[in-house]
Amino acid sequence: MQRGLRTEIQRISLTVLVLTGIGLINGHLSLTLLCGFAVYLAWTLRQILKLYRWLETRPDELPPESYGVWADICDQLYRLQQSNKRATQLHRNVVNRVKSITTALEEGLVLLNSNRELDWWNPAAKQIFNLQKNDRGQAITNLIRSPAFVKFIYGGKFKKSLEISAPNDDQRKLLISASKFEGDNTALVVQDITRLRNMEQMRTDFVANISHELRTPLTVISGYIETLQANNGSLPPAWNAALEQMNQQTQRMNALANDLVMLSQLESMDTPPSRQPVKLQPLLEQIVQDASALASDNHNLILECEPELTISGESKELYSAFSNLVINAIKHNPEGADIRITAERQSAATVVHVSDNGIGIDPKHIGRLTERFYRTDQSRASQTGGTGLGLAIVKHILLRHHATLSISSRRFSGSTFSCRFAD
Ligand code: ADP
Repeated sequence: MQRGLRTEIQRISLTVLVLTGIGLINGHLSLTLLCGFAVYLAWTLRQILKLYRWLETRPDELPPESYGVWADICDQLYRLQQSNKRATQLHRNVVNRVKSITTALEEGLVLLNSNRELDWWNPAAKQIFNLQKNDRGQAITNLIRSPAFVKFIYGGKFKKSLEISAPNDDQRKLLISASKFEGDNTALVVQDITRLRNMEQMRTDFVANISHELRTPLTVISGYIETLQANNGSLPPAWNAALEQMNQQTQRMNALANDLVMLSQLESMDTPPSRQPVKLQPLLEQIVQDASALASDNHNLILECEPELTISGESKELYSAFSNLVINAIKHNPEGADIRITAERQSAATVVHVSDNGIGIDPKHIGRLTERFYRTDQSRASQTGGTGLGLAIVKHILLRHHATLSISSRRFSGSTFSCRFAD
Protein backbone atom coordinates (compact mmCIF):
# COMPACT_ATOMS: atom_id res chain seq x y z
CA MET A 1 0.00 0.00 0.00
CA GLN A 2 2.78 2.38 0.98
CA ARG A 3 4.66 1.62 -2.25
CA GLY A 4 1.53 2.31 -4.32
CA LEU A 5 0.95 5.57 -2.45
CA ARG A 6 4.55 6.61 -3.01
CA THR A 7 4.28 5.90 -6.76
CA GLU A 8 1.00 7.84 -6.87
CA ILE A 9 2.59 10.86 -5.14
CA GLN A 10 5.55 10.67 -7.54
CA ARG A 11 3.16 10.44 -10.52
CA ILE A 12 1.16 13.48 -9.29
CA SER A 13 4.35 15.51 -8.66
CA LEU A 14 5.73 14.66 -12.12
CA THR A 15 2.44 15.57 -13.82
CA VAL A 16 2.26 18.89 -11.89
CA LEU A 17 5.88 19.58 -12.92
CA VAL A 18 5.23 18.80 -16.62
CA LEU A 19 1.96 20.81 -16.58
CA THR A 20 3.76 23.76 -14.96
CA GLY A 21 6.40 23.59 -17.74
CA ILE A 22 3.72 23.49 -20.46
CA GLY A 23 1.76 26.29 -18.70
CA LEU A 24 4.87 28.46 -18.54
CA ILE A 25 5.61 27.83 -22.27
CA ASN A 26 2.05 28.52 -23.45
CA GLY A 27 1.51 31.37 -20.91
CA HIS A 28 -1.66 29.77 -19.43
CA LEU A 29 -0.30 28.19 -16.27
CA SER A 30 -3.53 28.22 -14.21
CA LEU A 31 -5.66 26.91 -17.09
CA THR A 32 -3.18 24.15 -17.88
CA LEU A 33 -3.00 23.10 -14.20
CA LEU A 34 -6.81 23.18 -13.93
CA CYS A 35 -7.18 21.01 -17.05
CA GLY A 36 -4.61 18.57 -15.69
CA PHE A 37 -6.43 18.43 -12.29
CA ALA A 38 -9.76 17.84 -14.09
CA VAL A 39 -8.25 14.95 -16.09
CA TYR A 40 -6.79 13.44 -12.89
CA LEU A 41 -10.14 13.77 -11.11
CA ALA A 42 -11.95 12.10 -14.02
CA TRP A 43 -9.40 9.26 -14.03
CA THR A 44 -9.76 8.81 -10.25
CA LEU A 45 -13.57 8.78 -10.51
CA ARG A 46 -13.30 6.11 -13.19
CA GLN A 47 -11.13 3.95 -10.91
CA ILE A 48 -13.66 4.36 -8.04
CA LEU A 49 -16.52 3.46 -10.40
CA LYS A 50 -14.69 0.30 -11.55
CA LEU A 51 -14.06 -0.65 -7.92
CA TYR A 52 -17.72 -0.14 -7.02
CA ARG A 53 -18.93 -2.21 -9.96
CA TRP A 54 -16.55 -5.00 -9.12
CA LEU A 55 -17.55 -5.04 -5.44
CA GLU A 56 -21.24 -4.90 -6.31
CA THR A 57 -21.48 -7.39 -9.10
CA ARG A 58 -18.48 -9.72 -9.35
CA PRO A 59 -16.61 -9.78 -6.08
CA ASP A 60 -15.61 -13.43 -6.66
CA GLU A 61 -13.76 -12.62 -9.89
CA LEU A 62 -10.34 -11.03 -10.16
CA PRO A 63 -10.40 -7.27 -9.37
CA PRO A 64 -10.48 -4.78 -12.31
CA GLU A 65 -7.20 -3.67 -13.80
CA SER A 66 -6.06 -0.49 -12.03
CA TYR A 67 -2.93 1.53 -11.51
CA GLY A 68 -0.99 2.96 -8.63
CA VAL A 69 -2.74 3.22 -5.31
CA TRP A 70 -5.98 1.87 -6.79
CA ALA A 71 -4.30 -1.33 -7.88
CA ASP A 72 -3.05 -1.75 -4.32
CA ILE A 73 -6.51 -1.08 -2.84
CA CYS A 74 -8.11 -3.63 -5.24
CA ASP A 75 -5.42 -6.15 -4.39
CA GLN A 76 -5.91 -5.75 -0.63
CA LEU A 77 -9.69 -5.98 -0.95
CA TYR A 78 -9.38 -9.11 -3.07
CA ARG A 79 -7.11 -10.79 -0.55
CA LEU A 80 -9.40 -9.84 2.35
CA GLN A 81 -12.34 -11.22 0.47
CA GLN A 82 -10.60 -14.50 -0.26
CA SER A 83 -9.61 -14.99 3.37
CA ASN A 84 -13.20 -14.17 4.43
CA LYS A 85 -14.43 -16.74 1.95
CA ARG A 86 -12.08 -19.36 3.37
CA ALA A 87 -13.15 -18.55 6.97
CA THR A 88 -16.85 -18.74 6.02
CA GLN A 89 -16.28 -22.08 4.32
CA LEU A 90 -14.43 -23.33 7.39
CA HIS A 91 -17.32 -22.26 9.65
CA ARG A 92 -19.80 -23.84 7.29
CA ASN A 93 -17.85 -27.12 7.41
CA VAL A 94 -17.75 -27.02 11.22
CA VAL A 95 -21.49 -26.30 11.42
CA ASN A 96 -22.21 -29.12 8.95
CA ARG A 97 -20.07 -31.55 10.95
CA VAL A 98 -21.75 -30.60 14.22
CA LYS A 99 -25.11 -30.96 12.50
CA SER A 100 -24.33 -34.42 11.17
CA ILE A 101 -22.88 -35.51 14.55
CA THR A 102 -25.97 -34.33 16.47
CA THR A 103 -28.18 -35.97 13.84
CA ALA A 104 -26.33 -39.27 14.19
CA LEU A 105 -26.51 -39.16 18.01
CA GLU A 106 -28.77 -41.74 19.62
CA GLU A 107 -29.14 -39.44 22.61
CA GLY A 108 -31.55 -36.56 22.45
CA LEU A 109 -29.92 -33.14 22.67
CA VAL A 110 -32.04 -30.14 23.66
CA LEU A 111 -30.78 -26.58 24.07
CA LEU A 112 -32.72 -24.24 26.33
CA ASN A 113 -32.37 -20.48 26.63
CA SER A 114 -31.95 -18.70 29.96
CA ASN A 115 -35.75 -18.83 30.54
CA ARG A 116 -35.65 -22.63 30.19
CA GLU A 117 -37.46 -22.38 26.85
CA LEU A 118 -36.80 -24.73 23.92
CA ASP A 119 -34.28 -23.23 21.55
CA TRP A 120 -32.94 -26.12 19.47
CA TRP A 121 -33.10 -29.94 19.44
CA ASN A 122 -31.69 -32.81 17.40
CA PRO A 123 -33.76 -35.47 15.59
CA ALA A 124 -33.43 -37.97 18.48
CA ALA A 125 -34.89 -35.44 20.94
CA LYS A 126 -37.63 -34.65 18.42
CA GLN A 127 -38.55 -38.32 18.37
CA ILE A 128 -38.31 -38.87 22.15
CA PHE A 129 -40.47 -35.85 23.04
CA ASN A 130 -42.50 -35.74 19.82
CA LEU A 131 -41.40 -32.13 19.27
CA GLN A 132 -42.88 -29.96 16.49
CA LYS A 133 -41.36 -26.87 14.86
CA ASN A 134 -43.75 -24.53 16.65
CA ASP A 135 -42.59 -25.87 20.05
CA ARG A 136 -39.60 -23.56 19.78
CA GLY A 137 -39.87 -20.92 22.53
CA GLN A 138 -42.09 -23.13 24.71
CA ALA A 139 -41.08 -23.64 28.34
CA ILE A 140 -39.56 -27.15 28.74
CA THR A 141 -41.68 -27.60 31.88
CA ASN A 142 -44.82 -27.43 29.68
CA LEU A 143 -43.48 -30.49 27.94
CA ILE A 144 -42.07 -32.43 30.90
CA ARG A 145 -44.28 -31.70 33.88
CA SER A 146 -42.88 -34.25 36.33
CA PRO A 147 -42.24 -32.43 39.66
CA ALA A 148 -38.82 -34.09 39.91
CA PHE A 149 -37.86 -32.64 36.52
CA VAL A 150 -39.20 -29.15 37.38
CA LYS A 151 -37.10 -29.21 40.56
CA PHE A 152 -34.09 -30.50 38.59
CA ILE A 153 -34.26 -27.86 35.85
CA TYR A 154 -34.82 -24.90 38.18
CA GLY A 155 -32.45 -26.23 40.85
CA GLY A 156 -29.69 -25.54 38.35
CA LYS A 157 -26.96 -27.63 40.02
CA PHE A 158 -27.02 -30.56 37.59
CA LYS A 159 -24.49 -32.58 39.60
CA LYS A 160 -26.41 -35.82 39.08
CA SER A 161 -28.51 -37.15 36.21
CA LEU A 162 -32.25 -37.51 36.66
CA GLU A 163 -34.31 -40.57 35.76
CA ILE A 164 -37.94 -39.95 34.83
CA SER A 165 -40.73 -41.60 32.85
CA ALA A 166 -41.27 -40.20 29.36
CA PRO A 167 -44.12 -37.68 29.09
CA ASN A 168 -47.24 -39.53 27.84
CA ASP A 169 -45.61 -42.96 28.21
CA ASP A 170 -44.95 -44.27 31.71
CA GLN A 171 -43.29 -47.42 30.37
CA ARG A 172 -40.41 -45.50 28.77
CA LYS A 173 -37.62 -44.47 31.11
CA LEU A 174 -35.42 -41.48 30.35
CA LEU A 175 -32.12 -40.47 31.88
CA ILE A 176 -31.54 -36.74 31.67
CA SER A 177 -28.26 -34.97 32.32
CA ALA A 178 -27.79 -31.26 31.98
CA SER A 179 -25.07 -28.66 31.87
CA LYS A 180 -24.91 -24.90 31.57
CA PHE A 181 -23.32 -23.14 28.61
CA GLU A 182 -22.89 -19.52 27.48
CA GLY A 183 -24.02 -18.10 30.82
CA ASP A 184 -27.46 -19.31 31.81
CA ASN A 185 -28.34 -21.45 28.77
CA THR A 186 -28.83 -25.16 29.38
CA ALA A 187 -27.97 -28.24 27.31
CA LEU A 188 -29.96 -31.39 28.09
CA VAL A 189 -28.76 -34.83 27.05
CA VAL A 190 -31.60 -37.36 27.08
CA GLN A 191 -31.02 -41.12 26.96
CA ASP A 192 -33.80 -43.62 26.48
CA ILE A 193 -32.86 -46.28 29.06
CA THR A 194 -36.07 -48.34 28.78
CA ARG A 195 -34.23 -51.38 27.38
CA LEU A 196 -31.54 -51.16 30.05
CA ARG A 197 -34.11 -50.91 32.85
CA ASN A 198 -36.14 -53.79 31.36
CA MET A 199 -33.02 -55.94 31.22
CA GLU A 200 -32.14 -55.04 34.81
CA GLN A 201 -35.68 -55.95 35.84
CA MET A 202 -35.36 -59.27 33.98
CA ARG A 203 -32.08 -59.98 35.76
CA THR A 204 -33.55 -59.11 39.15
CA ASP A 205 -36.62 -61.27 38.47
CA PHE A 206 -34.46 -64.12 37.23
CA VAL A 207 -32.21 -64.05 40.30
CA ALA A 208 -35.23 -63.74 42.60
CA ASN A 209 -37.05 -66.64 40.90
CA ILE A 210 -34.08 -68.96 40.76
CA SER A 211 -33.16 -68.26 44.39
CA HIS A 212 -36.76 -68.84 45.42
CA GLU A 213 -36.93 -72.10 43.44
CA LEU A 214 -33.68 -73.31 45.04
CA ARG A 215 -35.14 -73.04 48.53
CA THR A 216 -37.48 -76.05 48.19
CA PRO A 217 -34.86 -78.60 47.03
CA LEU A 218 -32.44 -77.22 49.62
CA THR A 219 -35.00 -77.71 52.39
CA VAL A 220 -35.55 -81.33 51.24
CA ILE A 221 -31.79 -82.02 51.06
CA SER A 222 -31.09 -80.52 54.51
CA GLY A 223 -34.02 -82.53 55.91
CA TYR A 224 -32.46 -85.77 54.66
CA ILE A 225 -29.01 -84.76 55.88
CA GLU A 226 -30.41 -84.05 59.35
CA THR A 227 -32.19 -87.44 59.38
CA LEU A 228 -29.02 -89.21 58.34
CA GLN A 229 -26.99 -87.35 60.96
CA ALA A 230 -29.56 -88.26 63.62
CA ASN A 231 -29.14 -91.95 62.70
CA ASN A 232 -25.39 -91.83 62.31
CA GLY A 233 -24.99 -94.91 64.51
CA SER A 234 -26.24 -97.09 61.66
CA LEU A 235 -23.84 -95.53 59.13
CA PRO A 236 -20.16 -96.32 58.55
CA PRO A 237 -18.04 -93.78 60.60
CA ALA A 238 -16.38 -92.45 57.41
CA TRP A 239 -19.72 -90.93 56.46
CA ASN A 240 -19.83 -88.55 59.46
CA ALA A 241 -17.33 -86.05 58.07
CA ALA A 242 -19.01 -86.16 54.65
CA LEU A 243 -22.44 -85.55 56.18
CA GLU A 244 -21.09 -82.65 58.24
CA GLN A 245 -19.63 -81.06 55.11
CA MET A 246 -22.85 -81.60 53.19
CA ASN A 247 -24.77 -79.98 56.04
CA GLN A 248 -22.46 -76.93 56.10
CA GLN A 249 -22.60 -76.44 52.33
CA THR A 250 -26.39 -76.81 52.24
CA GLN A 251 -26.68 -74.19 54.98
CA ARG A 252 -24.40 -71.91 53.00
CA MET A 253 -26.47 -72.34 49.86
CA ASN A 254 -29.60 -71.70 51.89
CA ALA A 255 -28.14 -68.48 53.28
CA LEU A 256 -27.13 -67.44 49.76
CA ALA A 257 -30.61 -68.11 48.37
CA ASN A 258 -32.19 -66.18 51.28
CA ASP A 259 -29.84 -63.21 50.83
CA LEU A 260 -30.43 -63.16 47.05
CA VAL A 261 -34.20 -63.22 47.53
CA MET A 262 -33.96 -60.41 50.07
CA LEU A 263 -31.71 -58.29 47.83
CA SER A 264 -34.00 -58.78 44.83
CA GLN A 265 -37.02 -57.81 46.92
CA LEU A 266 -35.28 -54.68 48.16
CA GLU A 267 -34.28 -53.76 44.60
CA SER A 268 -37.69 -54.27 43.09
CA MET A 269 -39.61 -52.37 45.76
CA ASP A 270 -40.18 -48.86 44.44
CA THR A 271 -42.11 -47.55 47.37
CA PRO A 272 -40.13 -46.28 50.33
CA PRO A 273 -40.49 -48.34 53.52
CA SER A 274 -43.30 -47.39 55.88
CA ARG A 275 -42.22 -44.44 57.97
CA GLN A 276 -43.16 -45.65 61.45
CA PRO A 277 -41.21 -44.39 64.44
CA VAL A 278 -38.90 -47.24 65.47
CA LYS A 279 -37.46 -47.20 69.01
CA LEU A 280 -33.79 -48.02 68.71
CA GLN A 281 -33.09 -49.41 72.16
CA PRO A 282 -35.44 -52.44 72.06
CA LEU A 283 -34.49 -53.12 68.42
CA LEU A 284 -30.76 -53.11 69.15
CA GLU A 285 -31.25 -55.15 72.36
CA GLN A 286 -33.07 -57.80 70.32
CA ILE A 287 -30.23 -57.84 67.77
CA VAL A 288 -27.60 -58.22 70.51
CA GLN A 289 -29.60 -61.04 72.10
CA ASP A 290 -30.07 -62.91 68.79
CA ALA A 291 -26.46 -62.36 67.76
CA SER A 292 -25.12 -63.64 71.12
CA ALA A 293 -27.16 -66.80 70.70
CA LEU A 294 -25.70 -67.19 67.22
CA ALA A 295 -22.11 -66.53 68.27
CA SER A 296 -20.80 -69.70 69.83
CA ASP A 297 -17.50 -68.03 70.72
CA ASN A 298 -16.61 -65.32 73.17
CA HIS A 299 -17.12 -61.93 71.62
CA ASN A 300 -17.99 -59.06 73.97
CA LEU A 301 -21.12 -57.38 72.74
CA ILE A 302 -21.60 -53.91 74.30
CA LEU A 303 -24.72 -51.82 73.65
CA GLU A 304 -24.91 -48.09 74.34
CA CYS A 305 -28.17 -46.46 73.38
CA GLU A 306 -30.23 -43.72 74.99
CA PRO A 307 -33.75 -45.03 75.63
CA GLU A 308 -35.63 -42.24 73.87
CA LEU A 309 -33.84 -42.50 70.50
CA THR A 310 -36.13 -43.27 67.54
CA ILE A 311 -35.78 -43.25 63.76
CA SER A 312 -38.58 -43.51 61.24
CA GLY A 313 -38.68 -46.49 58.92
CA GLU A 314 -39.51 -50.15 58.57
CA SER A 315 -38.42 -52.05 61.68
CA LYS A 316 -37.92 -55.41 59.88
CA GLU A 317 -35.55 -53.87 57.36
CA LEU A 318 -33.71 -51.90 60.05
CA TYR A 319 -33.34 -55.09 62.11
CA SER A 320 -31.84 -56.80 59.07
CA ALA A 321 -29.38 -53.95 58.34
CA PHE A 322 -28.05 -53.57 61.92
CA SER A 323 -27.94 -57.31 62.57
CA ASN A 324 -25.94 -57.85 59.37
CA LEU A 325 -23.34 -55.39 60.70
CA VAL A 326 -23.25 -57.04 64.14
CA ILE A 327 -23.02 -60.56 62.68
CA ASN A 328 -20.24 -59.40 60.36
CA ALA A 329 -18.31 -58.04 63.36
CA ILE A 330 -18.68 -61.45 65.04
CA LYS A 331 -17.92 -63.51 61.92
CA HIS A 332 -14.90 -61.60 60.73
CA ASN A 333 -13.13 -60.98 64.05
CA PRO A 334 -11.37 -63.36 66.41
CA GLU A 335 -12.74 -64.52 69.75
CA GLY A 336 -12.37 -62.00 72.55
CA ALA A 337 -12.92 -59.00 70.29
CA ASP A 338 -15.11 -56.19 71.66
CA ILE A 339 -18.10 -55.30 69.51
CA ARG A 340 -19.70 -52.00 70.44
CA ILE A 341 -23.14 -51.00 69.19
CA THR A 342 -23.76 -47.31 69.82
CA ALA A 343 -26.71 -45.10 68.91
CA GLU A 344 -26.38 -41.36 69.35
CA ARG A 345 -27.63 -37.98 68.20
CA GLN A 346 -25.29 -36.02 65.97
CA SER A 347 -26.07 -32.66 64.32
CA ALA A 348 -29.60 -33.13 62.85
CA ALA A 349 -29.21 -36.90 62.58
CA THR A 350 -29.38 -40.15 64.51
CA VAL A 351 -26.37 -42.37 63.98
CA VAL A 352 -25.95 -46.07 64.74
CA HIS A 353 -22.33 -47.28 64.91
CA VAL A 354 -21.22 -50.90 64.95
CA SER A 355 -17.54 -50.96 65.79
CA ASP A 356 -15.05 -53.64 66.71
CA ASN A 357 -11.41 -53.77 67.77
CA GLY A 358 -10.66 -56.75 65.54
CA ILE A 359 -8.66 -57.40 62.39
CA GLY A 360 -9.60 -54.21 60.52
CA ILE A 361 -9.90 -53.82 56.77
CA ASP A 362 -7.23 -52.74 54.29
CA PRO A 363 -8.20 -49.23 52.98
CA LYS A 364 -8.02 -50.48 49.37
CA HIS A 365 -11.13 -52.65 49.97
CA ILE A 366 -13.31 -50.11 51.76
CA GLY A 367 -14.79 -48.44 48.65
CA ARG A 368 -15.89 -51.81 47.25
CA LEU A 369 -17.24 -53.57 50.35
CA THR A 370 -20.90 -52.90 49.53
CA GLU A 371 -20.58 -54.50 46.07
CA ARG A 372 -22.30 -57.85 45.72
CA PHE A 373 -20.05 -60.83 46.42
CA TYR A 374 -17.10 -58.58 47.26
CA ARG A 375 -14.94 -60.02 49.99
CA THR A 376 -11.60 -58.78 51.24
CA ASP A 377 -10.23 -62.29 51.25
CA GLN A 378 -11.84 -64.85 48.97
CA SER A 379 -10.14 -67.79 50.65
CA ARG A 380 -11.40 -66.82 54.12
CA ALA A 381 -14.98 -66.46 52.91
CA SER A 382 -15.75 -70.16 53.03
CA GLN A 383 -14.49 -70.32 56.63
CA THR A 384 -16.70 -67.46 57.80
CA GLY A 385 -19.68 -68.86 55.90
CA GLY A 386 -20.47 -65.43 54.46
CA THR A 387 -22.36 -64.93 51.22
CA GLY A 388 -20.70 -61.66 50.28
CA LEU A 389 -24.13 -60.04 50.10
CA GLY A 390 -24.52 -58.73 53.67
CA LEU A 391 -23.20 -55.21 53.13
CA ALA A 392 -25.00 -54.90 49.76
CA ILE A 393 -28.24 -55.61 51.66
CA VAL A 394 -27.30 -53.04 54.33
CA LYS A 395 -26.60 -50.43 51.65
CA HIS A 396 -29.95 -51.05 49.92
CA ILE A 397 -31.92 -50.85 53.15
CA LEU A 398 -30.21 -47.61 54.14
CA LEU A 399 -30.80 -46.16 50.66
CA ARG A 400 -34.50 -46.89 51.01
CA HIS A 401 -34.42 -45.04 54.35
CA HIS A 402 -32.50 -42.08 52.83
CA ALA A 403 -29.69 -42.97 55.21
CA THR A 404 -25.99 -43.38 54.47
CA LEU A 405 -23.38 -45.97 55.41
CA SER A 406 -19.84 -44.89 56.15
CA ILE A 407 -17.01 -47.29 56.91
CA SER A 408 -13.80 -46.43 58.69
CA SER A 409 -11.20 -49.02 59.53
CA ARG A 410 -7.56 -49.51 60.36
CA ARG A 411 -5.72 -52.71 59.69
CA PHE A 412 -5.35 -54.70 62.96
CA SER A 413 -7.14 -51.96 65.00
CA GLY A 414 -10.76 -52.60 64.09
CA SER A 415 -13.58 -51.19 62.00
CA THR A 416 -16.56 -48.91 62.47
CA PHE A 417 -19.69 -49.09 60.31
CA SER A 418 -21.88 -45.99 60.83
CA CYS A 419 -25.48 -45.65 59.62
CA ARG A 420 -26.57 -42.00 59.52
CA PHE A 421 -30.29 -41.20 59.48
CA ALA A 422 -30.77 -37.48 58.79
CA ASP A 423 -33.85 -35.87 60.44
P1 ADP B 1 -19.90 -61.57 53.98
O1 ADP B 1 -21.07 -62.42 53.75
O2 ADP B 1 -18.64 -62.12 53.42
O3 ADP B 1 -19.80 -61.12 55.41
P2 ADP B 1 -20.45 -58.81 53.50
O4 ADP B 1 -20.97 -58.09 52.30
O5 ADP B 1 -21.30 -58.73 54.74
O6 ADP B 1 -20.20 -60.28 53.09
O7 ADP B 1 -19.03 -58.24 53.85
C1 ADP B 1 -18.07 -58.08 52.83
C2 ADP B 1 -16.67 -58.25 53.36
O8 ADP B 1 -16.35 -57.17 54.23
C3 ADP B 1 -16.49 -59.49 54.20
O9 ADP B 1 -16.21 -60.61 53.41
C4 ADP B 1 -15.30 -59.11 55.08
O10 ADP B 1 -14.12 -59.37 54.38
C5 ADP B 1 -15.45 -57.60 55.22
N1 ADP B 1 -16.00 -57.22 56.53
C6 ADP B 1 -17.27 -56.88 56.81
N2 ADP B 1 -17.42 -56.53 58.10
C7 ADP B 1 -16.20 -56.65 58.67
C8 ADP B 1 -15.68 -56.42 59.99
N3 ADP B 1 -16.44 -56.01 61.00
N4 ADP B 1 -14.36 -56.63 60.19
C9 ADP B 1 -13.56 -57.04 59.18
N5 ADP B 1 -13.99 -57.27 57.92
C10 ADP B 1 -15.29 -57.09 57.66
